[in-house]
Amino acid sequence: MSSNLRIAIIGQSNFAADVLELILERSKFQVVGVFTIPDKGSREDVLATTAASHNIPVFKFASWRRKGVPLPEVLEQYRSVKAELNVLPFCSQFIPMEVIDGARLGSICYHPSILPRHRGASAISWTLIEGDEVAGFSIFWADDGLDTGPLLLQRQTNLEPTDTLDTIYKRFLYPEGVKAMGLAVDMVADGTAPKIVQTEVGATYDPAMFKVENQQLCLAQSAVGIFNFVRGLDSVPGAVATVVLDDGTEEQVRFFGAHLYSAGPVKDGKALKLKGLAKPAWVHEGGLLIEGTDGAFVNVRRIKRGTKMINASDWFKQAEHQPITDFSEDELAKKVQLASIWQAILKAPIEGATDFFAAGAGSMDVVRLVEEVKDAFDVPLENENVFMAPVFDEFFDQLVRNLRQGSGGAGGKQVEYKGFQLKANKRDIRVPTQLFINGEFVDAEKNRVLDIVNPTDETVLCEVACASTNDVDKAVQAAHKAFFGSWKQVSARQRGQLMLKLADLMEQYKEDLATIESVDSGAVYTLALKTHIGMSIDAWRYFAGWCDKIQGNTIPVNPARPNNVLTFTRKEPIGVCGLVTPWNYPLMMLSWKMAACIAAGNTCLIKPAQTCPLTALKFAELSVLAGFPPGVINVLPGKGSDAGQAVADHPLVRKLGFTGSTPIGKHIMKSCADSNLKKCSLELGGKSPLVIFADCDLDKAVKHGMSSVFFNKGENCIAAGRLFVEDRIHDEFVRRVLKDLRSMTIGDPLNRSTAHGPQNHKAHMDKLIEYCERGVAEGAKLVYGGCRVPNMKGYFFTPTVFTDVEDNMFIAQEESFGPIMIISKFNGSDVDSVMTRANRSEYGLASGVFTKDISKALSFADRIEAGTVFVNVYNKTDVAAPFGGFKQSGFGKDLGQEALNEYLKTKCVTIEY
Ligand code: NAP
Repeated sequence: MSSNLRIAIIGQSNFAADVLELILERSKFQVVGVFTIPDKGSREDVLATTAASHNIPVFKFASWRRKGVPLPEVLEQYRSVKAELNVLPFCSQFIPMEVIDGARLGSICYHPSILPRHRGASAISWTLIEGDEVAGFSIFWADDGLDTGPLLLQRQTNLEPTDTLDTIYKRFLYPEGVKAMGLAVDMVADGTAPKIVQTEVGATYDPAMFKVENQQLCLAQSAVGIFNFVRGLDSVPGAVATVVLDDGTEEQVRFFGAHLYSAGPVKDGKALKLKGLAKPAWVHEGGLLIEGTDGAFVNVRRIKRGTKMINASDWFKQAEHQPITDFSEDELAKKVQLASIWQAILKAPIEGATDFFAAGAGSMDVVRLVEEVKDAFDVPLENENVFMAPVFDEFFDQLVRNLRQGSGGAGGKQVEYKGFQLKANKRDIRVPTQLFINGEFVDAEKNRVLDIVNPTDETVLCEVACASTNDVDKAVQAAHKAFFGSWKQVSARQRGQLMLKLADLMEQYKEDLATIESVDSGAVYTLALKTHIGMSIDAWRYFAGWCDKIQGNTIPVNPARPNNVLTFTRKEPIGVCGLVTPWNYPLMMLSWKMAACIAAGNTCLIKPAQTCPLTALKFAELSVLAGFPPGVINVLPGKGSDAGQAVADHPLVRKLGFTGSTPIGKHIMKSCADSNLKKCSLELGGKSPLVIFADCDLDKAVKHGMSSVFFNKGENCIAAGRLFVEDRIHDEFVRRVLKDLRSMTIGDPLNRSTAHGPQNHKAHMDKLIEYCERGVAEGAKLVYGGCRVPNMKGYFFTPTVFTDVEDNMFIAQEESFGPIMIISKFNGSDVDSVMTRANRSEYGLASGVFTKDISKALSFADRIEAGTVFVNVYNKTDVAAPFGGFKQSGFGKDLGQEALNEYLKTKCVTIEY
């Protein structure tokens, strides 16, 4: 082997630079000169940079000859390095024969096809376009023809049906090509390199695909022919097609991401006319479907319109925003500044169409870009913004929007809607009143509306759109599309970030949200701040943390000897989830369910209770600001009997999360089974027992006993529906409760001193009055309240206390869902009996016990049939603790890790190896 072999590298690009590095790594030979192209602007070819870093002389020639004659000064410089072998890894220039033959051992050259097939500049494209079964490369001895010299070595690989120009280059032609160039140099050095004369049999010379006229896609051919052409030009430059628009004008576009399609007719396709195609193509949710002349189909997933790449399925979608055209001088100056930031990162000249990633940027470059732009322009920006607008002009457009919008503009966009102006609590709040479907606020079908009543003064606050079955279908379709489209592109960690951002926005607007909740549902403002809104924010933050921690198991199963087996599980989102919620904690019920549902990776639509949907709509607005893609969250106020029922019945909804009454829960479960056997979880009514032993801390028992019933005006699913108080302290307990009740402030829920606000709506208040009348009729002793608060406008119901309640009475068995305390006595020597009485209910949501005796408390916790047990406390829920009932209080948990499982499915994968 000639170890001092003097080599000249002639070429350009990363491929040539890697060949140079490989030759140098072996340190057997001497690279005496590198000949490459001149700098483009300030950007040097990477081969020159690499050579310079190894102190190798670099020569940059714009051309080697003029009018067919070699330039003497160029020849002289080439000869000065005294190369014995020329290596041409990738060379776009015409090299004169004086140079090719100027080295003692000649010139070896890389070509990305199996010569003599596909001679010429676009060999890889033609390998795909012609439908070859194998692809490969040749290293040959250069001569005076175009790729005609004798062969030194060749390598080949089977072409996969999913291969494109990009994949075949990246997976084979590049990495194997670099190695083979190294081997070829070794073979030349040790004298074993063959010179196999190329035959002319099977030789092809193919047109260069960098000419636009050659990039035109012929649609009058088979589906396979169309598919091969598109993938042969994917991802650069893309196959050119012409769309004939409705007004007869034509638009030239480029196609990417083609695959053969055999899944049968598309649903809900919309016709698109393509020039040169006899039948219309179809835009459908999976792309653009084109029928070849053989009747088979090819589907195209992405279309480039101008500089913007869109999903083909979005062709008919109204552009999200028109590009900005009215840039100010200041903004144009910023454009120059932005271009210099891009240029410094990409080390390449920047044009409007420069794509950050196509120009070679990686994830660290994204971070650098974001940080530099934030620093330079003092504008909020996130990595996500770069992924969403990777082309320079789009990125600048987005930057200007953010700058114009101020700090609210990062990630999400402002959303327009019809709404009403709520002036309350010294605030002026804009509240949406339309349905929220696919990221937009829209009217309901036939403009149907619901009256929203303020329970404090019985006035109509506003009209809110009332969803129909068709509206529900639109929302489901949007959620379905997002689930299989945009939402899939969002990684688990990004999902968590979106949720955290939403939680931050909820925090930012918490006074607005609490005010709306107070006016809409009658919630006491201070409680709304802490619980209705505070716990909602907690739920979003808690579940955001789960997003990137959802994982399966590896499971040791019996091996299939002599082979081994690997079995693992994956936790996957279920798909489109329907959520139906009640009116007692409107935003909190939404958040408990939706945060878990979204964290698990699902998309959803929610039908909030018809009486108080306003915080859900304000929340929808915030979800846009947070940057959730359209269709992931949909909010549809409406009636349970039609919109709610339509959610339960819809065949594309795969899971229903329901909170409400037991009778409706049962009905819904049947609908879930009959429609498509959708999974459901039911958080239903309760009649929770609270047992107070005489050995308790009585002050504490009275305080918690009061809140166990009167918290949130009794509109609390875990409210203690029955209090069993030991006979020794019964009278004292009742006396203290009545004392506290007499000093309870009832009034405007926005007033900070108010402890008890109006019931949620009139029908509910009327039901409470009837409930008390029935209690009295059955012989229970009404010791306080039982009626509407006299002389007061609004749905104010007096907190009520019944004693001497017998187990068989209606009020002992049925939930009131209002501020009604039902007290029965028990004898402290007969713990078994009180346990039996506490469990004698078809409900099993929550329970409580007050005692200082730890054994009694734990025995109670063992024996009570309820999903939640409170000991010496009540209502202490937390977003990390699972919440849900037993028996006819339903099944499936909200909150805690268990809630995630309600929105996940487990897939088991087994591999033999
Ligand atoms: P509900 O009458 O059962 O209503 C709950 C939700 O279901 C509402 O949005 C309602 O719509 C909707 N709905 C009604 N009929 C429907 C149907 N056929 N198909 C689909 N959806 C339908 O309960 P509520 O009166 O609003 O709430 C009070 C009940 O909820 C109480 O029993 C309480 O215990 C329970 N709750 C339980 C929990 C828990 O976690 N276990 C929490 C809170 C409340 P409309 O708005 O049109 O009525």
